[in-house]
Amino acid sequence: MNILVLNCGSSSLKFQVIETDLDLIKEEKDKQLAKGIIERIGGQALITMQTSGRSQTKQAAPLRDHRAALDYLLRWIVSAEANIATVRSLGDIHAVGHRVVHGGEKFTRSVVIDDDVIKGIEDCIDLAPLHNPANLKGIQAARELFGTGVPQVVVFDTSFHTTMPEVSYLYAIPYQLYRRHKIRRYGFHGTSHRYVAYRYRQLSKKKRDDVHIITLHLGNGCSVCAVKGGNSIDTSMGMTPLAGLVMGTRSGDIDPSVHEFLMHKEGMSIQEVDTLLNKQSGLLGLSGLTNDMRDLLDEEREHQDRRSKLAIDVFCHRIRHYVGAYLAEMGGADAVVFTGGIGENSPVIRQRIVTGLEFLGIQLDQESNASMVGGKEGEIAAKNARVSAWVIPTNEELLIARDTVRCIKNAPRRW
Ligand code: ADP
Repeated sequence: MNILVLNCGSSSLKFQVIETDLDLIKEEKDKQLAKGIIERIGGQALITMQTSGRSQTKQAAPLRDHRAALDYLLRWIVSAEANIATVRSLGDIHAVGHRVVHGGEKFTRSVVIDDDVIKGIEDCIDLAPLHNPANLKGIQAARELFGTGVPQVVVFDTSFHTTMPEVSYLYAIPYQLYRRHKIRRYGFHGTSHRYVAYRYRQLSKKKRDDVHIITLHLGNGCSVCAVKGGNSIDTSMGMTPLAGLVMGTRSGDIDPSVHEFLMHKEGMSIQEVDTLLNKQSGLLGLSGLTNDMRDLLDEEREHQDRRSKLAIDVFCHRIRHYVGAYLAEMGGADAVVFTGGIGENSPVIRQRIVTGLEFLGIQLDQESNASMVGGKEGEIAAKNARVSAWVIPTNEELLIARDTVRCIKNAPRRW
């Protein structure tokens, strides 16, 4: 089957076309056919498309909303320009898989979309006021353009973490607030943590129940997950993706009293404080320069920039803090797994994170660590390390495509 995978943001639409099916999943023979992104939807949009094995094309076009963007995308997918051998008309797209950020407590796994599911996603808008409406726009646009004959599936960022026990997900605020408003930790990046845990299981030839690892998703957004017996038992993001690690522009964990203090001292509104913590903090806020880890590493190396070094140090310190905490929660782990733009590509940061953790049995092999970049997958632990370490590039789109097939065909999907 050819699956169109959609990931809609407030003004963007990322996509991939992936050929997959139950037998292809088994043999790991799924194939990415095309990918791309449409940015700045609502004005003069920037469109980047790529058929696998060919070079990227960039275009610009006025696209007023997500429906117009999807319409543009579908015309390209079936065009002679895209030239995808097995996709010549819209009928060659057999299903659509959507990434949805928040599934609340209701959605513990991926599901085929119907009116109830849409209502359920709408019910979670309070919890993800920026993300879920954008995801819904993508779903609505796909329903309009494909009609009801093409099944659609949603894969939630939160589902993988619904196995967390109460002690991990409850905040210590009056319990009735949890009951009334569902204020609790949900966690995000679930599709990434789940994919990486699944790949680790395959690579290490373990049974699902024997997968005890800490997964570190380090991209622009960053989160840690404690995976025990194949299930998420704790994760660093909270009710929203603001909690936990230091990120590109998000503060991660912070004393909640800082909100009131800032409002008082800086005359800020609560919305302005929220924007500050989400968009002007993290690596950007600490360095005063950029949210891009590559640039920070360059600044530190080439100009000995003190604030860039500080930002990187705080970033690594927070990760070490969580690794230690999760090892204690889990009663030890077999491996630490790095993924995301930084985790997959930066041997320097990986090394800085684990420096000082030798006493826990975590130690990297310098050579393997240095060589594991640019999408390579493999083990990077020193020979005698008690806890292994791996780099496993994430592939959320592939997991969404596979879940889409499995949901439509009612096949089991434990991962
Ligand atoms: P997103 O969370 O938006 O998907 P990515 O997973 O692509 O983001 O990660 C983006 C981050 O990865 C940026 O901070 C970028 O600087 C960092 N990154 C990419 N390549 C490298 C590299 N070679 N060294 C250090 N950081 C890198």
